[in-house]
Order: sequence, then C-alpha cells, then structure tokens
Amino acid sequence: MKIFVCPTCTSRLFFDNMSCSCGVAVAFDPAREGFVTDVAVCPNRTQIACNWVASADGGLCDSCTLTTVLPNLSIAGNRTLWSKAEQAKRRVLAGLRRWGWFGAADDGPRPEFHMLSEATASGPADITMGHASGRVTINLAECDTTERVRRREALGEPYRTMVGHFRHEIAHFLFERLAASDRFKGEFRALFGDETADYGAALMRHYAAGPPAGWEDTCISSYATAHPHEDWAESAAHALHLVDMVDSFAAARLSSDAFSGAGYDAYAEANPAQLLTAAMEIGVALNHVNRALGVSDLYPFVTPARVLEKLAFAQTRLKHGPAT
Ligand SMILES: [Zn+2]
Ligand SMILES: [Zn+2]
Ligand SMILES: [Zn+2]
Repeated sequence: MKIFVCPTCTSRLFFDNMSCSCGVAVAFDPAREGFVTDVAVCPNRTQIACNWVASADGGLCDSCTLTTVLPNLSIAGNRTLWSKAEQAKRRVLAGLRRWGWFGAADDGPRPEFHMLSEATASGPADITMGHASGRVTINLAECDTTERVRRREALGEPYRTMVGHFRHEIAHFLFERLAASDRFKGEFRALFGDETADYGAALMRHYAAGPPAGWEDTCISSYATAHPHEDWAESAAHALHLVDMVDSFAAARLSSDAFSGAGYDAYAEANPAQLLTAAMEIGVALNHVNRALGVSDLYPFVTPARVLEKLAFAQTRLKHGPAT
C-alpha cells in the first residue's frame, strides 16, 4: 500500500484516513489512487467510516456497492463489526485494483459480499465463511479481535486476520475468472492438482485426518492441503499479502538489498522470484523487529521451493489482471 499526500497541504495520509492534520476532510478515490477533497463521498461514510468517494451518480463507493447483504443493524455491535469488515475489504480491493481487477476497464463479473453476523434477532446463527458462484460470505464475528484470536488459537493457526479472510475468499472468486482460460487451467493443474476432485469429501477427510505428513514442503498452510481449490486460495492470498507487504515497506521508504530502493513499485515487479526474495527478506527482518517489542511475528510462515513456485504462479497470473 502506498502512503498518500493531502491535496491541500501535502502532509502524509494513510489509506484509512478521513481527515488530514491540516483539518481538511479527505476521501480516497480508487480510480485516481489518491486522496481528494470537495467531492461527493460514499453515503456509508457517516455510519461505517467508509472514506472512499461516491460513485459517479453519487451512490455507494466501488467497495460498498459490492456488499449486497448486511447484518441486522438494530442489534448492538453489528454496525461496528460491519465497519471493520468493510475497512479490510477496501484495502484488499485497492490492492487488486493496482492490477486492474474490478476497475473501470474491467468489464468482467464482480464478487458480491454477504456480511453476516452471528448475532441475529432469532439468536446466535452458524455462519461459514466461503465463496460460491460469485458470492462471498463473511462471518463478521472475527472482526472482534478477542473472538478472532480465540478462533485462531482453537484452530492452531499462526496467522488469522480479516484482510486474510478477504484475500482468501476473493482468490476463490478470481480462480473462476482465471479458469476461463484453458492455459491457466493446464498450468494450475500441473502445480496444484485436479480441482475437479470431490470437494465435500476432501474437506471431510481433512477435518477427520488432518494434513498429510510432510505437508509443510508443499503447502503454505495446513488448510491448503485440503483440496486444490483451498491450496490456490491460500497461495493466492499469500501472494497478495507479500506484494502488499513489500509495497508498504518501500512506500515507508525503508530499504532492502533485495529491491531497487526509493520509488520501488512491488505491484509492477515483473519478476516474481525477485518479489518473493524481497518479501522473505523483509519478513525475516520485521519478525526480528516485532520480537523486540514482544509481539507476534509479522509473517509467521516458511516457504520451501515448492510453495514459492505456487506463490510465484499466483502472483504472475493475478498480476496479468482481468485481460488474462
Ligand atoms: Zn492536509
Ligand atoms: Zn463506501
Ligand atoms: Zn477457501
């Protein structure tokens, strides 16, 4: 993620900012990839702190408009959870837009989001996050930090965030768009296996028996071993994490021997191996920094050669954008 400037005073602005220290109200325009003032703002600005500009006709912004189902907002807490989910979603969509996904020139289908809360008028509901036929279901419960950490611990996962959930589920959606190409499908199957294998049976097997021995050599996470679709979603989510990590690092004017220095645009990097080398170096360095403060590792994953191959494939194919 870039660091932006205030159009009025040129102070630094960060992606989530709604106003500048100079006092001016600002809005983020994803089409221009920068902040603007004196424009129509997203109608959700007041209720969920969406800081994007309105659509051309004054309607919901390019991110909010993709949300088609909301939680019951008369129940205490649901609005806050929804607000946090939309914040994570905007960040993920802005990254994908750097590669052309869901921007003005992309005339392909968009995902739609169902933002569901376990707190409903008829009591607690069971909600499973997932993607099916263009519809992404998000369980807002994990927008509550305590609840997310509790679930992460229960599942024995090293990393669990809303940004991660959005990247994973949108990756399933993007698979469907990419798989319109036979070339993509051929390359995908050579690397990830046959995605037409029975999905329900594979998930049941995964939850009953756990990952196969030695899975760490071939998959980025235990869950990725469940089925080629999950391996893709996990690998693609990590490819998106890592490009944005390197991009943010460079935007903050930190330097690494692994890339060319000031002004480096990780999203424009044509060589996935170069990008992943930079990401691994930065990951190790920032894990070291985090440990100085006694907080969790920034990137608590190891990436053997076979995993890097999958991440490079995902990065390359996603970077081509919708024209693929
Ligand atoms: Zn300013
Ligand atoms: Zn909005
Ligand atoms: Zn999945």
